[in-house]
Amino acid sequence: MSSTQALADFAHALANGAITVIDLTQTLSEDTPLLVLPEPFGQTAAFSREEISRYDDRGIAWHWNNFTVGEHTGTHFDAPIHWVSGKDLPDNSVDQVPVSKLIGPAFVLDFSAECAADPDFLLTADHIGDWEAAHGAITPGSWVLFRTDWSKRDTEAYTNRREDGAHTPGPATDAIRFLIEERNIMGFGVETIGTDAGQAHLLTPPYPAHTLLHGAGKYGLQCLENLDKLPATGAILIAPPLKIRDGSGSPLRVLALVAE
Ligand code: MN
Repeated sequence: MSSTQALADFAHALANGAITVIDLTQTLSEDTPLLVLPEPFGQTAAFSREEISRYDDRGIAWHWNNFTVGEHTGTHFDAPIHWVSGKDLPDNSVDQVPVSKLIGPAFVLDFSAECAADPDFLLTADHIGDWEAAHGAITPGSWVLFRTDWSKRDTEAYTNRREDGAHTPGPATDAIRFLIEERNIMGFGVETIGTDAGQAHLLTPPYPAHTLLHGAGKYGLQCLENLDKLPATGAILIAPPLKIRDGSGSPLRVLALVAE
């Protein structure tokens, strides 16, 4: 099949519904839950907006707003420059990430039952090995999406903050090492606010997803939803962040293409 034919077939499949588009994005609003760091660290800004006009004296026929938001608020992309381990890599900011890397196959690892039983569940390399035995090996250049069903929780249960910080699932260090070194993934996406577990400051190294993924030039996606609507293998993920000069990340729309 020629490349031209492949695109024509793709357009036809989109038009006739053989391929559907799934939105993996949280709605961004003033209510979007935020990551909260302990004192004395700086905090990401909540989404806020001011109305410029809404078909009124300030603009008789048009509606528009100015908005303020952190680079890491709501459904968002993490670029390698976000972490100190990736600060000297080439093409490490959102404006420099090669566009060919913003679309790729998705492997969806469903550990929602384990996470329901244990909010501090850590995905290990052994868990991934078991998953691959059932579904096949994760291919190079892929997004690995960690399904926890966390996006189905209300805000309090979603952030799950206690005296000692957030209690939310994430990857163990050996899982991240395996995905980088043995599978050469493109990135790791989660439903929770961070790619790391809520208690990942206690792991070695602390925050292994951020430290190791970004140090290896890999990307992160956070605050995804609708992962339960994706097949374990076969979906294509589209995740282009805003082109912010030297930006460490950005809110974005994340889409998945799924064959019916
Ligand atoms: Mn982030």
